[in-house]
Amino acid sequence: MVVGKMMSSVWVISIALLLLCFTAQCGQGAGGAQLQEQDGTRSELEEVDALKEKLIIGNRILDLNELVSPYGHISARIPNSDRIFITSAKSPGLVTVEDVLVVNLDGEVVEGEGITYSEVHMHTGIYKARDDVNAIAHTHSDYAVALTIADIPFQPSMNQALQYIGQAKTWDRIGTITTSELGEQVAEFLGADNALLFKRHGAVIVGPTVELTTIRAIFLERAAKLQLLATAVGKPVPFTSEESSRLLPANPSRPWQYYSSKVSQDLAP
Ligand SMILES: [Zn+2]
Repeated sequence: MVVGKMMSSVWVISIALLLLCFTAQCGQGAGGAQLQEQDGTRSELEEVDALKEKLIIGNRILDLNELVSPYGHISARIPNSDRIFITSAKSPGLVTVEDVLVVNLDGEVVEGEGITYSEVHMHTGIYKARDDVNAIAHTHSDYAVALTIADIPFQPSMNQALQYIGQAKTWDRIGTITTSELGEQVAEFLGADNALLFKRHGAVIVGPTVELTTIRAIFLERAAKLQLLATAVGKPVPFTSEESSRLLPANPSRPWQYYSSKVSQDLAP
């Protein structure tokens, strides 16, 4: 009798869990990612949650380094999907995980509450054109903009500028990138580069990860600052090909650890 009652309880609970799982489209995460436990590794859903947190850390790092305040944004491609994470239209220093939205490559919010940045088309245009890009930052940093005002082409003349960025051309069109057509034009102008400058406006920086994109944004600004300082006292001298061949490839691990340690204590809403 007791065993019979226990068995019926088990059946009721099992059916309830099955229904719950069905209505929640069990395993469907953001952007359609499937929840699949893998032996000894994080599930895709855990990876997606970790990516959201990383995006917030990236926002805070850009803010800490005065590259975005109060305007600017960073996005990340959701793995194995045609959707991206980007926050609602708030200052990057103020966003939290709750502000992260899922946006399709037409720039439309498909998951989450709120509207995103009017310049989202800059992101979607580049994601559509570049399969190797999984994170994009848009900054409005002082020294990079100052170079464009003085009509000075960016010249990667310090170590990290060459290791992390390389060439960054200036897009002369004035104004913001608020249509998909402009987003596609930006992507075409960017080509295979890691960054470009917008005249009198800011910069866009791309990379395969949130970490590398964020660190590239920091070094782009630092390189622009040093180039302006060098220009003020003399004529900046570019790397020779022999000098540049001695530089190691970019590795964002240490700078990401350094900068994220400065903001990770401050991620609560
Ligand atoms: Zn802008």
